[in-house]
Amino acid sequence: MRLLQAFASTLAPIYPLAKRLLYKFHGGVFPQYNKSLSARNPIRALYYPTELILPLPQTVGEMAKSLVKVGDHVLKNQLIAQSQADANQKLVVPIHAPTSGEIIAIEARALPHASGLQELCIILKPDGKNKAIENVLQTTGTWPEDAQPLKDLIAQSGIIGMGGAGFPTYAKLPSKQGKVKHLIINGAECEPFISCDDLLMQTDAEQIWLGAQIVAHALNCQEILCGIETNKPQAIEKMQSAAKNLQMPSNASVIHLAAMKIQEVATVYPMGGQKQLVYEMTGVELQSGHHAIDQGILMMNVATLKAIYRAVTLGEPLTSRLVTVSGEGVTEGFNIEAFIGTPFNELAELAKPKGDIDYPLIMGGPMMGVQMPQNHVPILKTTNCVLANPPEPRQMQMPCIRCGECMDACPVNLLPQQMYWHAQGHEYEKVEKLNIKDCIECGCCSYVCPSHIPLVQYYRHAKSEIKVLNAEKQATELAKQRHEFKLARIEREKAEREARLKAKKEAVKKQAAQNTNTPQESEKSATSGASKSVASAAAARAAAAKAAARKKANSDTSSEQTQTDKPLSAREKAILAAQKAAANKQGQSDKDFKTKGQSLGSKSDRQAATEAAKKRAAMAAAKAKATSAAKQKAQPENSAREKAIAAARKKAAQSSKTEDPAVKSSSDLEENNNKKGNDENKSPTLNASQQTAELTTDLSANGSETSPALEKELARKAAMQKAREAALARKKTHQKQNNTPVKTDQDSPPTKTSESSETAEAIPLDSPLDKKAAAKKAAMQAAKRAAAKRAAAKKENNE
Ligand code: SF4
Ligand code: SF4
Repeated sequence: MRLLQAFASTLAPIYPLAKRLLYKFHGGVFPQYNKSLSARNPIRALYYPTELILPLPQTVGEMAKSLVKVGDHVLKNQLIAQSQADANQKLVVPIHAPTSGEIIAIEARALPHASGLQELCIILKPDGKNKAIENVLQTTGTWPEDAQPLKDLIAQSGIIGMGGAGFPTYAKLPSKQGKVKHLIINGAECEPFISCDDLLMQTDAEQIWLGAQIVAHALNCQEILCGIETNKPQAIEKMQSAAKNLQMPSNASVIHLAAMKIQEVATVYPMGGQKQLVYEMTGVELQSGHHAIDQGILMMNVATLKAIYRAVTLGEPLTSRLVTVSGEGVTEGFNIEAFIGTPFNELAELAKPKGDIDYPLIMGGPMMGVQMPQNHVPILKTTNCVLANPPEPRQMQMPCIRCGECMDACPVNLLPQQMYWHAQGHEYEKVEKLNIKDCIECGCCSYVCPSHIPLVQYYRHAKSEIKVLNAEKQATELAKQRHEFKLARIEREKAEREARLKAKKEAVKKQAAQNTNTPQESEKSATSGASKSVASAAAARAAAAKAAARKKANSDTSSEQTQTDKPLSAREKAILAAQKAAANKQGQSDKDFKTKGQSLGSKSDRQAATEAAKKRAAMAAAKAKATSAAKQKAQPENSAREKAIAAARKKAAQSSKTEDPAVKSSSDLEENNNKKGNDENKSPTLNASQQTAELTTDLSANGSETSPALEKELARKAAMQKAREAALARKKTHQKQNNTPVKTDQDSPPTKTSESSETAEAIPLDSPLDKKAAAKKAAMQAAKRAAAKRAAAKKENNE
């Protein structure tokens, strides 16, 4: 190995990829390791920080619930928080007090995460006494004989993967023996600057081996392999020595130990990756999407094995870990057994920084580490390094030149350039198809990229997006499955119902067939059936009669109820009154009327009454209309009508031998007219008066009041008479102007001029047409007279 390494190093200046001859897996890079900055110094003594920040949420698993309150004094190893979930169902990790002290707060604090999110934390102020509860896990020191007891003990001690993954160790172990062929101890601390595992192997090699033996014993594993990079010669030596001289604890009952083998592996980044180290040491290529345990491989970090040993033999929970504090910004890097919860900034200050640490510290190494949003964040069980590297001038990102360097460097054989391309275009499905989930975010691709593209940042973002999309897809799928299950259940219930019905029908048919099969039985059944049918018919009739009676009673009740409950409208009241009057007229008794009135509620009576009322209403409306029209029409002739009525009344009075002067004058006028020989064609006024008087007399004889029809007729006749009078007056005026005799409508004989002049005086000629006609006639007569004169003069001349 050393010879091969020397040969590859010689070729490296000419052919850099020659170093790849040293290992088996694809890709990898050779960064500056700078491990000596911290590895050269011995492990520092205990440091008591001002406060310990103990987050209740865990790296992986359920959030723990605090078992203490503010003001409580706790001892080292005391259980202070635990999840209520079942450890066999969920991932749970208890929290123990790292040292003795007082709980001063339970509040939200920033966690060591790129997001800078704050979570609930228990704040413990150390008292500096470090007073502990010994063997808090109450172990006897006996090694567990089976997998499950070991798992339970590890779960109680709160041990998780201390290499960086943070997965609860108890959940990583198989539940049954014989599943693990190779237990691999990961001593390939490949990240630059970090040296805590190296120092741990140098100082606690025996505990590491014993921890591995405990696991191998519980899982019945026969071989333990330890992979250590060639750049850690002291650790290799110490581990080899410890393996050779491994002493069994006095209280352990184990007589058989698994074989231990140390394997030096090339110093190449990322040799510490599970896939890479397993492949390097065993030649087994771990399949994508499968656990290593499925292929008989169990890999554990050196720090985790030490914690298992202390838990099993000493009953000690995990409350501290070895941490490297290093970087370009400090002068004295070191390793320290730090309490879990120690703030980053306090540890960095211990390393004598070159200046103010006003830049973000890094959790982890420069390749895979994460910059902290603030420096007062706690050390977790997975924190192996606090790196104080001042930020370097950022190199400008250039477009991808498709050089393919990233692809050559990728230790997982992915296509970094393709993944970057699709991640940039938010085509996450395509990124997923390129197996981005296998990316270990080692940073080799970014390290070699000549365009300085931060490829790993793109992959981290794409992974989180894919996670969200998959969660949504899963929820949709679940809803779809629920819907399909519901449909299937409905179908099944329907089929069952139909089957039940079918079975019932068949049973009835079968019964009927049995009844008809035997003649005697048939007869018997027929007889019984006939008697049954007679009885049932009688019962049906009785039931029908009862139903009819009930219906009738209901109807009567409802009718009465309608009559009594429902208030009568005005029209119904009028109808009722009319009916009552009619009944009285016909001599009906009150009892009959009441019966009829009560039966008004019946539909036919009510309809008849309504029809009669409608007819009467229509007649009344027509009468009112005619009256109003007659009134309107007769309005202008009111005076004439009244005169006519008055004359008629006078005449009537005269006829009853009651002399009246006004009537007398009328009689004189009538006598004068008779003298003129116009017995039939009397004066229009007198004629009209006579007619009106006749009508009025007739009316008076019929009743004391005039009917509207009669009044209308009188008004019409009076209007006609007046029109005749006006026409006659016009004719007379015309005749007077033309000196022509006036004729009446009935060809009455010509009246005398004196009479005409009297009439002309009564009706003056003020019509412009009449004047014009008269002037025209006069002119014609004058012309005739002049012509006659001229003819006479001519005749005389001729003679
Ligand atoms: S190394 Fe950088 S420039 Fe080269 S192909 Fe990959 S992403 Fe593109
Ligand atoms: S970060 Fe991912 S893609 Fe880049 S080299 Fe590492 S494993 Fe490959």
